[in-house]
Amino acid sequence: MKIEQIDILKQKRPVIISGPCSAESEEQLLSTCEAIAKTGKVDLLRAGIWKPRTRPNNFEGVGAVGLEWLVKAREKTGLPVSVEVANFNHVFEALKQQIDVLWIGARTTVNPFSVQEIADALKGTNATVFVKNPLNADLELWTGALERLNKSGITRLGMIHRGFAQHGKSIYRNEPKWQLAVEMKRRFPEIPMICDPSHIGGKRELLLPVSQQALDLDFDGLMLESHINPEVALSDKAQQVTPDSLEEILDKLVVRQPNVSDESLNTQLDMLRQQIDIIDNDLLQLIGERMQVAENIGIVKKEKGVTILQTQRWEEIITKATENGALQGLSEKFMIRYLKAVHQESIDHQNKIMNSEGALSTRTDGAIS
Ligand code: PEP
Ligand code: MN
Repeated sequence: MKIEQIDILKQKRPVIISGPCSAESEEQLLSTCEAIAKTGKVDLLRAGIWKPRTRPNNFEGVGAVGLEWLVKAREKTGLPVSVEVANFNHVFEALKQQIDVLWIGARTTVNPFSVQEIADALKGTNATVFVKNPLNADLELWTGALERLNKSGITRLGMIHRGFAQHGKSIYRNEPKWQLAVEMKRRFPEIPMICDPSHIGGKRELLLPVSQQALDLDFDGLMLESHINPEVALSDKAQQVTPDSLEEILDKLVVRQPNVSDESLNTQLDMLRQQIDIIDNDLLQLIGERMQVAENIGIVKKEKGVTILQTQRWEEIITKATENGALQGLSEKFMIRYLKAVHQESIDHQNKIMNSEGALSTRTDGAIS
């Protein structure tokens, strides 16, 4: 991919993007933008004017008139402005007003038709476009969107990690699944990665810890929603902060360097990393040995015509191992994920043994060993 650096990212790291979730009125947008600009800590303004809401009968944005307010905000603050686009017409309107940065929202990245429509609309321009991750944890859709834009000649690209929708209880509005963003950073090291703690957290209290985590993972910037009076916001009320709170959060953030030229620190880190490598090797060796035992069990079960599954045994393993894990300071969430992975691998090994004469292998979540 041919990628070029984005101006605002050349000048500062982490870059800070802020502004309301939605532009609601000229007064609300200008007062918010002027107040956050006064902090001197914001590099790019944001506001949604076409709001893709999950359910109908919610505020769906003010539409194209909001672009004129954004232009005024740019004139008053001297800061560049950004807006979400979801179709051809949005791109057309935004480019007409020379909006500096466009972003594609999570509900649009999931749809290759919409992304292609946007990519076609952008052909021949030198627009700067940020692509949010799709709602679901599918890195190919995120990658595909970047590729579609790049094929249209868009070289100033950015990624925004806003977390992934998930069913069930979580402290987050959208699960961060940090490892997925890190994988995208690995795939596209030259494309900047911005974190959107507002949509990950869904509430003010989580903005600081999520922002700090992103910086510690070496993200290039943050997009934080702010509102002159969040209590009366027409969208995403619980996660927007006043300009003062925004400044407070930004002041508390610790920016660490990915690499420092400190000899003693590097020696210390090297030693610790060597320890980690040795332990990882030992762990793999043990897991390999465990699989051998599982295979032996498979042989015995095959001889006696016994099934692989024994649900009760699996329950016992989970209970015992999560208790033991807790004693080692390992979370229940990790223990379950770890056990499931080891368990599935054991089943696959036993299946190979049980069905070694070419029968279909079955996948199951039942118990073994
Ligand atoms: C937004 O940025 O206000 C927005 C709608 O975000 P997302 O696409 O991440 O839900
Ligand atoms: Mn929002």
